[in-house]
Amino acid sequence: MPHTGDKGRSLARRLYSSRTLGLALGFVCVGAAMYPLHPPAWVWALMLFNGFAWAPLAYLCSRLAKAPYDSERRNLLIDSYMAGFWVGAMHFNPLPSVTSLSMMAMNNVAIGGVRFLLAGFVAQGLGVATSLMIFAPLFIPQTTPVQLYASLPLLSLYPLALGWICYRQAATLGRHKRELLALSRTDSLTGLLNHGAWKDQLDLEFQRCRQQSRSGAIALIDIDHFKTINDTYGHVAGDIVLRQLSRILTQNLRASDMAGRYGGDEFCVILPDVPLHSAAQVMEALRERFACLGYAQSPSLKVSLSIGLAAYDPAHSDATLWLSHADQALYAAKTTGRNRVICGVAASVG
Ligand code: GH3
Ligand code: MG
Repeated sequence: MPHTGDKGRSLARRLYSSRTLGLALGFVCVGAAMYPLHPPAWVWALMLFNGFAWAPLAYLCSRLAKAPYDSERRNLLIDSYMAGFWVGAMHFNPLPSVTSLSMMAMNNVAIGGVRFLLAGFVAQGLGVATSLMIFAPLFIPQTTPVQLYASLPLLSLYPLALGWICYRQAATLGRHKRELLALSRTDSLTGLLNHGAWKDQLDLEFQRCRQQSRSGAIALIDIDHFKTINDTYGHVAGDIVLRQLSRILTQNLRASDMAGRYGGDEFCVILPDVPLHSAAQVMEALRERFACLGYAQSPSLKVSLSIGLAAYDPAHSDATLWLSHADQALYAAKTTGRNRVICGVAASVG
């Protein structure tokens, strides 16, 4: 999957702070190991550059790059290469060497998984080979107490910083996941539950009514002659009518009621724990309120609703049967003149 510039830039931003900390602590760790070896001035200059100038330079390169994500991966491989280089230059001083290499490996696996970890190992190997060609290829497996203490800040603080970054990343991902889930259950025009999410709620409500012997009702609401409204006043006006209906629903229903957009100009409501006659009164009030609404952009526009209601019945074998009773009631409301509420038992309230 191609990586977007935004993703690369956000990776570069995250890595900038951890790289700045890691390389500054790395300078202390490597510097303590290099000091007794009396390296030439250019090696100290390179150490200073790597420790303090490379992090901002790497960040700048990634920010300016056309493909920031690829640029940041290149920077990580350069980090690994330099760690390998210092390992060879320190003549494999055990503690600083293992510390530097393992911190880089931790970085690489956290960013790019096993494949990138292996690529990092190759870069580290190349770094070691380069320094062996420049410096005397010696192996001095000794760490002095001073070098041990100089390695401790990198050993303790860097994993803490990386852990914190990973934690924040996981928290952000969790938030995005919740937001995406909410979006996938929401109708984008009205903000109500969409068809699938509402049907899930209907199944749950059906099970609740069945298991706890509770009452409940569902309503299917359809806007009358909505196609004509679209044709006469335009689709923008039609959208305003749909949003207006969703607003009326959210304002007039209880928090426990669940309203959704079934599709097109059809809406649906679950009214838990209410007998049919109470649900009918609620829907009748809603129908009247909606019929009285005016529309600033289209003053002559008047809109009415047809509503079909059905109560939960223990004889229903499943939620689909309950829904089809509400659908039959809606059909009855449409065929007997529209602008009315019809209950599943065929008693007109409107
Ligand atoms: P009836 O009185 O029998 O319900 O007739 P109707 O015209 O309301 O119903 P019909 O099913 O014939 O037309 C529904 C229309 O709703 C057709 C479709 O173009 C329109 N529609 C569906 N979704 C949207 C939408 O999101 N916005 C707008 N503006 N119109 C929509
Ligand atoms: Mg309609």
